[in-house]
Amino acid sequence: MRWTKIGFPFLAALLAGCGTMNQNPSAAVAPALADFQTRAAKFHSVVTLPVFETTTNEIAATVANTIAAGNAALNRIGALGPNNVDFRNTFVALDDLNYKTACTANRIGLIQQTSTNAALREAATEAIKRLSEWSVGIDYREDVYYSLKNFAATQPTLEGEDKKLIDDTMRDYWRAGMYLPSDQRDAVEKLRKELTTLETDYEENIVKAHAELKFTKAELAGVPEDFLAQKGIQTDADEYTLKPNITFHYLMVVDNAKVEATRKRMMTAQCNLAREVNIPLLQKILVLRDRVATQLGYHNFADYVTEPRMTKNSRTAIDFLNRLKTGLQPKLDAELKEFHDLKVAEQGGEDKPTKIYAWDWRYYANELRKTKYSVDAEELRVYFPYQRVLDGMFTIYQRIFGLKFERVAPPYQWVDDLHLYTVSDAQTGEPLGCFYLDMFPRDGKYNHFAMFPIIEGKLLPDGKYQRPVCSLVCNFPPPQPDKPSLLSHDEVETVFHEFGHAMHTILTRAKYGRFSGTSVPQDFVEAPSQMLENWAWDKTVLDTFAADYRDPNKKIPPAILAQLKAARLATEATRYRRQLAFALMDLTLHTQIHATNVADTLPLANQIMSDVSFPVPPDTAFVAYFGHIIGYGAGYYGYAWADAIAADMATVFEKSPDGYFDKTIGRRMRNEIYSVGDSRDINISIEKFLGRPRSIEPFLQRIGAEAAK
Ligand SMILES: [Zn+2]
Repeated sequence: MRWTKIGFPFLAALLAGCGTMNQNPSAAVAPALADFQTRAAKFHSVVTLPVFETTTNEIAATVANTIAAGNAALNRIGALGPNNVDFRNTFVALDDLNYKTACTANRIGLIQQTSTNAALREAATEAIKRLSEWSVGIDYREDVYYSLKNFAATQPTLEGEDKKLIDDTMRDYWRAGMYLPSDQRDAVEKLRKELTTLETDYEENIVKAHAELKFTKAELAGVPEDFLAQKGIQTDADEYTLKPNITFHYLMVVDNAKVEATRKRMMTAQCNLAREVNIPLLQKILVLRDRVATQLGYHNFADYVTEPRMTKNSRTAIDFLNRLKTGLQPKLDAELKEFHDLKVAEQGGEDKPTKIYAWDWRYYANELRKTKYSVDAEELRVYFPYQRVLDGMFTIYQRIFGLKFERVAPPYQWVDDLHLYTVSDAQTGEPLGCFYLDMFPRDGKYNHFAMFPIIEGKLLPDGKYQRPVCSLVCNFPPPQPDKPSLLSHDEVETVFHEFGHAMHTILTRAKYGRFSGTSVPQDFVEAPSQMLENWAWDKTVLDTFAADYRDPNKKIPPAILAQLKAARLATEATRYRRQLAFALMDLTLHTQIHATNVADTLPLANQIMSDVSFPVPPDTAFVAYFGHIIGYGAGYYGYAWADAIAADMATVFEKSPDGYFDKTIGRRMRNEIYSVGDSRDINISIEKFLGRPRSIEPFLQRIGAEAAK
């Protein structure tokens, strides 16, 4: 998934928010920004920009101060006697403290990913480690727990967001095992620490894993020449050295190599990366996760993970995936037949190939795109010059959500081409927040596309509302001397997605840091942004901005977009069944592997991959190289789950008078989804937006699946 934010595995819920409560406004505030800040005061809110640390000493000092202030706040909460507890000095005080800590973590996390200074990035990495080690201990402050418990025991008559703050915070304590006798609690804490180490090892093994394969030119027939001509690939007269651990090398071969044996060799090598080290580690991790969950009173780790999410338990998630799996079968059969026909036509002869294997499908999907749909994705770039796309997207988001964006001079720039925008309500002029754009690649910078929250929304102790600040961190192709930055259609879709996360962050009105912005359940957080990806596929939307950069009168020919859509749908069942295979493997391992049957781990993982997607290459261990089994840990299903909600939500716009431009629906989205965040049950928010109960049908239709039984 594209979206990331700073978080700590078990503390993610506690550290969900972030912000600065007492930062000094920078001395060099541009007039426009100063006006914006003054205006905020009239709305009883505060706009502050983050003050970034610029030396390694400042980073170290910030962390030391944050920890010291955090400890002091914890001590204050912990020292309250049972008669002195109230809502403000317990639950709200803990939210304040977590908010401040997360603010530091977010800001330093952004420095770690974007600073142009390697020493600063390194200091930031160390600082984050220190901060997260310290924050794990917050969970286990017994004195703090008792103060909160004492207040909860008074059975306060609180409602709505206040009540949810109590319920969710107490649930975190339950999930940390604070109600257990101290020896059992210590045992859980010990297991969790052990787990963290093993998980880090597992992920490091993946990063370190490498292999080299040597091919002749003939074996690489079909692989693009300009790729083979790249430095370091040709290693002898007729010898090309490729690395299955480099995604780009891997994809070039499995997407393009005409020789089946070549594709198979490449895939087999990738599926065996990190195998010797990671299979034994994975077995240990699964057993430890299972022990942590069962000692905390859950059936298994997947039930533990899903409890605070929309699915609530692993059964619901597994059933959902299985329904999709069945629903996709007829379309999958049809797609496989088409791949098979291509393979027969290509290999021909009496010795007809009988099957499509895991190493075949990407190649034949690519062939299909080229031959049947004649789609050349590169050709489309001329219609998407960066600035036009950005301006066009801004116009659309301003219109549907009733907003006004204005570019202002950033008082501090971590890189020269950094831009800063303010966001206000178009009708009332109320300042709502700010966003930065750091859009082009450079050495040492985060290398994907993501939205980073920096300061999140929160009601401050003085009654004013802290408005949020966030940043998009992207890697669009840089402009060239002879032409502007030209985006692929995929990148256009991505920027619509990421900017949706920025809207989620900025438009919040949640009172507490832990509920504001994107701090919603992890199997929902992608849904609003996945919904907005649809905008990038709509001809009416695209025609408002996409035009040939050499001749702006030239819009995207309708046929090209139609072909692109048809090509996407043509292999959707294959692609989606693969996603389902990952998700089902993840959930099955986390519900079925216990200490007594660790030896089944690899066979079980392979069996599910083969059953749901394509049979895995013989004698391989794909799961050893699948980092998401650690990172998502029983949560990979969330991608499909959120996709289903996204498709459902999109229909509300589609059925409205103004379609994807509809202001009424946009305003409803803002009120019912973005502004409430996690301050009420997400199921209620979704239904209020839809105006009806949820339906899976729009999603099934989109991916070409049959009605679920
Ligand atoms: Zn995302």
